[in-house]
Order: sequence, then C-alpha cells, then structure tokens
Amino acid sequence: MNRPAKSAGYVARTRPVVPPIYQSATFYLDDIAYKDIQGNGGLSEHWYSRFANPTVDAAAAEIAELEGAEAALMTASGMAAIATTLMTLLQGGRRVVSARQVYGDTRDLLVRDLPALGFDVTMVDAADLSEWRSAIAAAPTTIVYAETLSNPQLELTDLAAVAELAHQAGAKMVVDNTFATPYTVNPLRLGADIVVHSATKFLSGHSDVIAGAVVADRETVTEIQRRVITFGGCLDAHAAFLVWRGLQTFDVRMERAQATARALADRLRGNAEVVSVRYPGNGAMVAFTVRGGNDRALAVMRRLTVASEATSLGGVETLVSTPFNSSHFSLSAEELAAARIDAGMLRFSCGIENAEALIADVEQALATTSR
Ligand SMILES: *Cc1c(COP(=O)(O)O)cnc(C)c1O
Repeated sequence: MNRPAKSAGYVARTRPVVPPIYQSATFYLDDIAYKDIQGNGGLSEHWYSRFANPTVDAAAAEIAELEGAEAALMTASGMAAIATTLMTLLQGGRRVVSARQVYGDTRDLLVRDLPALGFDVTMVDAADLSEWRSAIAAAPTTIVYAETLSNPQLELTDLAAVAELAHQAGAKMVVDNTFATPYTVNPLRLGADIVVHSATKFLSGHSDVIAGAVVADRETVTEIQRRVITFGGCLDAHAAFLVWRGLQTFDVRMERAQATARALADRLRGNAEVVSVRYPGNGAMVAFTVRGGNDRALAVMRRLTVASEATSLGGVETLVSTPFNSSHFSLSAEELAAARIDAGMLRFSCGIENAEALIADVEQALATTSR
C-alpha cells in the first residue's frame, strides 16, 4: 500500500489557503511527540486526534479570536462543551447556581444529571440580581452559570454584576454565548471566566454540523482539554472544517440577520395580532407572542412559507419554533410559567433571506389565521 512519505516533505511546497481536512486518527510519532507525551501529557503535539487535530485547532483559533480569548477548544457538540466544562470545574467543589432560563438540555443536565451525581444545583431568575446575590451567598458555590440571552425569552442577565458576585464567592462564572454570539458581546470582557458555545448555531451558520466550543484562558482550556480526552467528546476534523468555513462569513451573516431581526421586531410591534415582542436590541433572535395561545402559534407557524418550521437556530435560513413543544417540551405548565414562556410564543432565528419577503410572510400568516 502506498502511504505518503513519513517526512513532512511531501507537503512542504503545498500552501493551502484553506485548512486541509486532516482526516487522520493518528499521526507519525517522532522524538518531539514522545517528549511532549512524556513531559506534557501529549497535549501540544499532534499524535492522536482525540487529543488534538490540526483542522480542529484551526476552528478553535478562529473562535478564540472572535471572543477575544487566549485559547479555545472544540467539542463534539454544544452539550459536550457545557457538560465537560461543568464536570471539570466540579472537581473543585459541588454546587452550581444557575439561571432558570437556560437551553432545555442544559436544564436537564442541571436539574436531573448533576443532582444524580451528588451535586447541588440552585436556580434563580436570570434577570433578578437580588436572587443571584442571595443564592450565591447561601452556600459555598463552585460555578455560576448563565446564558447571555436567555432561551427563548431573550432576557438579559447583568453579566458583569453576576460575575462580580461569583468572584467574591470564589466561584467561576460560565456563560453560554450561543444566542448573543461574539458579534454582539464578549462575556470574558465583562468578567466571565469561561464561555461555552453551541457552534452548531450562528458560529458555523449553515445548519449542517453539530459542534461546540469552550473559550477561556489557556490554563483553564488545558484543564478542560484533559476531560475532553478522558470523557471523549472531541470534534471530528470534517465537522471542524465546516465550522471553520462557516466562520469565514460570520460577521457578514450576522450583520444581515441582525438587520432583518430588527425590522421584523419593529413591524410586529405594530401588529394587532401580536401581544408582545421580545427583541433585546441586537442579534438575530426574535421571540413574540400571538393572540390565541399555542394553537394560534402553531397555526401561524404552519402558514409560513419563507421561514422553516424547525428547531435549532443560527443558520442562513430563518427557523421558527414554538418552545413549548420543542426546545422546552419537558417543562410542566407551572415550569413554563415560571420560566416566562408565554402561551402563544414563537421563536424566530432570522436568516439571510430578503427581509421584506420574510416579514410579509409573517404578516400574511398572522392575517390569515385571525378570526
Ligand atoms: C443548541 C444549544 C445548545 C446545545 O448545543 P448542541 O450543539 O445542540 O449540543 C446549548 N445552548 C444553547 C443556548 C443552544 O442554543
């Protein structure tokens, strides 16, 4: 069988503009690799792709730069990024104080899985600083957890104030920046210690890959990398390539999607069929509540032809869902009310279609379902 020469010589005059997909599980060992394995746990050299892979590193470097961070690492999914980060930090303690308004599967991790493993989790209202203060003060706290923009209510947490409370208590602040994205905010600059991402969403931007990222200072990223190695949630090179490619148009996509989201929110505010509109002023997510509750929301969604009825967000195509029966299906009626997910709420992730066509589509769906 013909294999490429062992020396790097066969690529020396090849200088690709785009990172190659290193679809290789393993790499030739040499003295430099052995030295890194023995001295440093094999964290710096490329010798096995669960530890590190050049294509995966290329995607991580772009995300670190977007977040203004020293380092980043990629994971197999956003949930792998979140779970691996929390389990790493919980080796130094046992209590999490989290916003109540978080992504549905993050909520399951916090209220079901972490307590089953013996950890304490306290939940507070994301936007209520006094609740954060008393919960963090109530017992020794290891992790303070929030999303920059809560899902699906799009409420803002005062990240700087909560980070300060966390640090006073000796806790680390972890922020999920998937919804707001580094286009609108860099949580590390506001005091967060670690940022986690579902790179499945706006970062990659084409609804064609599942991926996650963890962003922090180098030492913290290395600690979490050790658990990506032992827990196994590494990203595949092919998926990393798609993330890297999507990132090349991140700013342009966000600029366009944000302009559309603003225009949609403005127009919906004037529509008599709409009870309330939630748009935080920037970003590409809009949530609004229609008259007539969940049945009406479902009817409106079914009439749309430009927007696609699908969960997830952050793609070039506008995606719409009703949280009660998709991302937050596991919540009871009381829990939905406590999380302020109103009956009749629709969540829009604006894509890059023609804004007028999208808005006209929503308006016709509202008009043709009104009694
Ligand atoms: C989608 C999402 C996740 C989970 O990411 P996956 O890539 O699907 O594992 C976590 N947090 C938020 C805010 C999300 O939207």
